[in-house]
Amino acid sequence: MTNNVLVLPGDGIGPEIVTEAVKVLGTLNLDIEIDSALVGGSAVDATGNPLPEETLNKARSADAILLGAVGGPKWDGNPMESRPEKGLLGLRSELELFANFRPAILYPQLAEASTLKPEVVSGLDILIVRELTGGIYFGQPRGIRTLENGEREGYNTYVYNESEIRRIGRQAFEAAQKRGKRLCSVDKSNVLEVTVLWKEVMEELAKEYPDVELSHMLVDNAAMQLVRAPKQFDVVVTGNMFGDILSDAAAMLTGSIGMLPSASLDKDGKGMYEPCHGSAPDIAGQGKANPLATILSVAMMLRYSLDESAAADRIEAAVQKVLDQGLRTGDIMSEGCTLVSTEEMGDAVVAAL
Ligand code: NAD
Repeated sequence: MTNNVLVLPGDGIGPEIVTEAVKVLGTLNLDIEIDSALVGGSAVDATGNPLPEETLNKARSADAILLGAVGGPKWDGNPMESRPEKGLLGLRSELELFANFRPAILYPQLAEASTLKPEVVSGLDILIVRELTGGIYFGQPRGIRTLENGEREGYNTYVYNESEIRRIGRQAFEAAQKRGKRLCSVDKSNVLEVTVLWKEVMEELAKEYPDVELSHMLVDNAAMQLVRAPKQFDVVVTGNMFGDILSDAAAMLTGSIGMLPSASLDKDGKGMYEPCHGSAPDIAGQGKANPLATILSVAMMLRYSLDESAAADRIEAAVQKVLDQGLRTGDIMSEGCTLVSTEEMGDAVVAAL
């Protein structure tokens, strides 16, 4: 059966890194049809809308989506509804991609790239499971209003219902079952009622997964523990905002955000796959971007949505091989290694395959 993959290059370095990832995908000779569409700033420029109807329709009918990144200074002053990020949030919510998987793995070849001591991070392998379509990023009411005294007030609503917590909890417990069988649920239950409920639902779920050891941690402590002793974690599950912040911190433990893939899945395993980093406008168009996070996102796509685990393994092995060969883009460069461009890195992965 032919799988349909929709490619959304996006903005900044997006088109450069996606080109390399598509090249790698093409090398595998799988029965995959690739289509592409606009999203983010490039879609705003072409249509005025960061998520054009045509893109959304193509995304709905695709088996999986590969996204580069969106955003850039050009659109920073746009009103909220025509900001590039709105395209991304729209895709996540329209497709109900509620489960975001962000692995933070430190490749032994890059142990020196981390700002933390090698003994603190070497062998690091954490999976952060972030709820992606609820919480304070989507809660209503929201806005900026003017009070009677003329002062402006900004407000958002932090809300989760039981079923939203339960479905992300299940994803996290099941992921933990396939890994180290330890799950840490992160909340702020000493201050926020919504996370008191979060904690309660996680406890209820734990009874269904007796083989998984559940623990709880307050988000401020989790931020500290992530930089103090990150290897204590196996799988971490948390809400949208805390997950946004903690997964970036976890990403930096590995030394380069340019190495980290992510998956956002719906209840049936359909997913959108993208690197954890943004559109890096500071290096866009210069051939400096690391395409490996996007290439590794293709591996996640093959594993989670397209039932092609063997092909995913091959890509991951090929990435290990180019790292062993000492090839590095600027973000992961270290002494004695060879600096390569975005395209050269993609070519090296293709050659390793
Ligand atoms: P960023 O991740 O784009 O860049 C942070 C730093 O990391 C920059 O110095 C950049 O050069 C570097 N970097 C990022 N990816 C890299 C790669 N593949 N190879 C080498 N270096 C890389 O974050 P930012 O600067 O905060 O945001 C830039 C734009 O991206 C903003 O408009 C932001 O809204 C957007 N953004 C988009 C997404 C997304 O599309 N999912 C995520 C985060 C930020």
